[in-house]
Amino acid sequence: MADDCIAHQPCPDCGSSDALAIYQDHSYCFSCSTRTVFTEQHPRPQPVQTRLHPVGPMRDFVSTPWEAPYRGLDTTTLEQYGISRTDGGITVFQYRDSSGKRCANKYRNADKSRVWWDGDVSAVSWLS
Ligand SMILES: [Zn+2]
Repeated sequence: MADDCIAHQPCPDCGSSDALAIYQDHSYCFSCSTRTVFTEQHPRPQPVQTRLHPVGPMRDFVSTPWEAPYRGLDTTTLEQYGISRTDGGITVFQYRDSSGKRCANKYRNADKSRVWWDGDVSAVSWLS
């Protein structure tokens, strides 16, 4: 089974701006060939920013119902906008392509320190 590349990042070893490919459990630099397996001592780096490109299949997530307005949006509006959250406190924004089909998710963790995507971000209609 092929690994899904999660993100491309600057490489701390050779300084390349985006050659470091981040996978689920390791990273690999296509410029200097440094391979790092993530451990507690070397955790997966936080995504530096969200460069928009396809990042593999959408994952399933279990959403929990909204109980209170979020960012000024009431619960009905949140559902209309495809904004959900998981019981882990992660906010999920669902994006659709020009035909209205769900094609990508954007996730943000509870303390807002991380944002990541899955799905085909390049197909999101308002981004193209
Ligand atoms: Zn490198």
